[in-house]
Amino acid sequence: MTFLFNSDARRGEIFRQALADELPDLPFAMDASKVDPDAVRYLITWTVPEDIARYRNLEILFSIGAGVDQFHIDTVPQTVKVVRMVDEGIIRMMQEYICLGVLALHRNLPAYLKQQRQQLWKALPQRQAEDCRIGVLGLGMLGVAALERLRTFGFPLAGWSRSPREIDGVTCHHGDDGLKAILSTSDILICLLPLTDETTGLLNAQRLSLLPDGAALVHAGRGRQLDHGALLDALDKGRLSGAVVDVTDPEPLPEDHPFWTHPKILLTPHIASVTQPHSAARTVVENIKRHESGLQPLGLVDRRRGY
Ligand code: NDP
Repeated sequence: MTFLFNSDARRGEIFRQALADELPDLPFAMDASKVDPDAVRYLITWTVPEDIARYRNLEILFSIGAGVDQFHIDTVPQTVKVVRMVDEGIIRMMQEYICLGVLALHRNLPAYLKQQRQQLWKALPQRQAEDCRIGVLGLGMLGVAALERLRTFGFPLAGWSRSPREIDGVTCHHGDDGLKAILSTSDILICLLPLTDETTGLLNAQRLSLLPDGAALVHAGRGRQLDHGALLDALDKGRLSGAVVDVTDPEPLPEDHPFWTHPKILLTPHIASVTQPHSAARTVVENIKRHESGLQPLGLVDRRRGY
């Protein structure tokens, strides 16, 4: 029985240590060419290896990231459980990023950065938090964690998911009608959805047009969920006031892409949340223990839904 680590060596050493401490009977390998493929029961990776079929006894395929959209799940044998990263480090970083994005937009940071470049000392009108409605698309691990932090600022909060949810102090919407409702009542919209067939292109011109005048966007889901041209158009026409964008399509953006220099866009290079090796290794150890005692691993992906 072997745990195969297929990612960067620095993180690999942290995983090696965590497994040696907690699961000393589970051999650890980082070099696929030196491992007996029949011995590999657990594999952690960012993308599915082309030769995954050679691991005939594989039980769990762990994603090193929070999403599995980079996996072609169809290529993974049905007998293998696919598990995304559910990790306290990812959650904490995303909470920071969402608060950063929301507060930057709420407190007019893009406009003040522009004024600074113009050496212009001028206060702009400031809306209070209780008048700034926040809507979160995606009420999963990250969406709910983001809402928990945003609660402390006094913003009215809403969220949207596929299935009905109840969260204290949050107006919860779901399904197609729910999407219209949350879009039309979000002064700052946050996207924390997984990328699936259904969410690809979700934030298109028509849906962005449902946002209230002057609304803003924090996009931290996946680049392909957002029609980049539609966002630019809405910003340039003044319909939307600003955007904080962490994920784009493609990544990185080409050097002449308008997002780089747009005065109403704060752009970051997909760093909202990054897998933290120490806590991720603890999570994986915990999941192997759960699996070996007959429990489902945390973060088990539902292949039908695609997340
Ligand atoms: P979860 O799987 O825990 O939650 C996903 C949420 O999205 C659920 O509430 C789900 O609804 C909802 N959802 C999915 N599809 C639809 C749909 N078609 N209509 C309505 N709601 C839908 O995911 P996480 O919270 O862990 O992560 C979300 C995403 O954040 C990741 O998949 C990844 O894309 C992104 N991410 C970005 C990072 C970055 O650095 N920018 C880092 C980490 C993650 P339901 O509750 O009904 O199932």
